[in-house]
Amino acid sequence: MDSIKSHIRAIPDFPKKGIMFRDITTLLKDAAGFQLVIGQLASRYRGKDIDLVVGIESRGFILGGALAFALGKGFVPVRKSGKLPYDKISHEYELEYGTDKVEIHTDAIAPGSRVLMIDDVIATGGTMLAAIALVEKLGGIAEECAFIVDLPDIGGSKKLREKGHSVFSLCEFEGG
Ligand code: AMP
Repeated sequence: MDSIKSHIRAIPDFPKKGIMFRDITTLLKDAAGFQLVIGQLASRYRGKDIDLVVGIESRGFILGGALAFALGKGFVPVRKSGKLPYDKISHEYELEYGTDKVEIHTDAIAPGSRVLMIDDVIATGGTMLAAIALVEKLGGIAEECAFIVDLPDIGGSKKLREKGHSVFSLCEFEGG
């Protein structure tokens, strides 16, 4: 997956010191790069037993929207607190400092639906675990969590797998 990796820009100390930010905008602006990402994900999930795609705000929307379209499935957003207009449920989760909250519309997922979860990067896994909690509260089944980038040294993908979730990523970077 070197062509995917080579299109991802690394920005040291963003948004704060010590974080190496993996910027996928350089990958997505490249037409061939964007097609490669969605093409590889679509070929993994085409024909699988998936009812819809759930993307996490905000880069998960770009990927999830394109992937859902390619698979011929619907798309559901998991949003940060206060953005969704209709009846919703929330899940609060721990950050390094403080907490954050994600939300989903109560009618977004029919009980028993098989859901493909997607975001751009997995670091601690906290955001994805919160999104899975929302899907499960509505009776959905998180079939797999897909990412462009795994940062395995931070431990999120290991944590998800230990909790019994299936994780797939197109590439990995060492370190934080
Ligand atoms: P986490 O909950 O720690 O797994 O963080 C995941 C969320 O934060 C995802 O929505 C990512 O887009 C973003 N994120 C965390 N770490 C990075 C990083 N090093 N580079 C880019 N995005 C990151």
